[in-house]
Amino acid sequence: MAGEPQADCLFCKIAAGEIPATIVRETDTTVAFRDIDPKAPTHVLVIPRAHYPDAASLAAGDPEASAAVLREAGEVAAQERVAGSGYRIVFNTGAGAGQTVFHAHAHVLGGRDLHRLV
Ligand code: IMP
Repeated sequence: MAGEPQADCLFCKIAAGEIPATIVRETDTTVAFRDIDPKAPTHVLVIPRAHYPDAASLAAGDPEASAAVLREAGEVAAQERVAGSGYRIVFNTGAGAGQTVFHAHAHVLGGRDLHRLV
């Protein structure tokens, strides 16, 4: 069923506390944790607890959780003190765009010059 945890999903396991992660924020519907391979001084992933394979399917299947992910991305930026200098919220969607984990997630990137990051 849409949104149900998937046994073979890394981010479902992080959301369930079955795999350790450096969690920076949690809500009833989202978890935010540091990327294991950071591309910027601040690189936090925000995920919905519900399992959807990418951002578009999340938005279609659970608009409230989709909005919560975006809201939390902003809260992470404020908490990490990168909101003032500017930051990126990135949703890689599909393998051809570099998506490697097929549980919807927002990358929150900040703390360095991001002008040349495509
Ligand atoms: P994607 O390439 O947009 O799917 O992003 C997946 C991200 O998950 C990459 O930036 C990885 O570095 C990150 N990642 C993979 N495994 C872990 C983990 O166990 N903890 C935290 N981040 C992870």
